[in-house]
Amino acid sequence: MAATILVVEDEPAIQELISCNLELAGHQALRAESAEQALEMVRAELPDLVVLDWMLPGMSGIEFARRLRADKRTQGVPLIMLTARAGEQDKLAGLETGADDYLIKPFSPRELNARVKAVLRRRAPQATDDAVEVAGLKLDPAGHRVTGNGTPLALGPTEFRLLHFLMTHSERVYSRAQLLDHIWGDHVFVEERTVDVHIRRLRKALEPTRHDRLVQTVRSAGYRFSAGT
Ligand code: CA
Repeated sequence: MAATILVVEDEPAIQELISCNLELAGHQALRAESAEQALEMVRAELPDLVVLDWMLPGMSGIEFARRLRADKRTQGVPLIMLTARAGEQDKLAGLETGADDYLIKPFSPRELNARVKAVLRRRAPQATDDAVEVAGLKLDPAGHRVTGNGTPLALGPTEFRLLHFLMTHSERVYSRAQLLDHIWGDHVFVEERTVDVHIRRLRKALEPTRHDRLVQTVRSAGYRFSAGT
């Protein structure tokens, strides 16, 4: 599954290099030349990750990072900072604003890809291609396949995304509104009961191997994916 990655970099050559490199790795790259433009893009669509240059004309990368972290809607977006300076103070300031990782220019495309992968794995596992398995239920994002105890199960595209998100965030309760944000996108207008419809379809698809019991309703709170009872 491709991650949507916002690249905020004012130098066109570096912007191009990073974006193309991310696209080659299978991701979708959104490009912004300034923090102001990036803020506008984030308002329209929440990316899975932001690659952010420190030195930008106008609003600095640090200020942009602070704003992301100050807003409830954007505070969870993973962030990789890029900088030309190797100073220890800068590194501290970057990490203090909530950057998940830090890369010093010049860096190789390979190094960037490795960092992106590591941060996504840690912070947004539903945006990676890693197969997940819980209690005999296995989901393979690369092959778009789900099996229960080795038996293939047929899921629609929305149920697949829903299951992928739930399996990578197990043992936590998500409200209908939160699931809408994560699976349908936070600016898409869908009624909350749509979630119930897809949860029902998902359970039905998991019934043949009795994995539907892993998708649990938490009264007046939402849903939880859990291997326990
Ligand atoms: Ca720059």
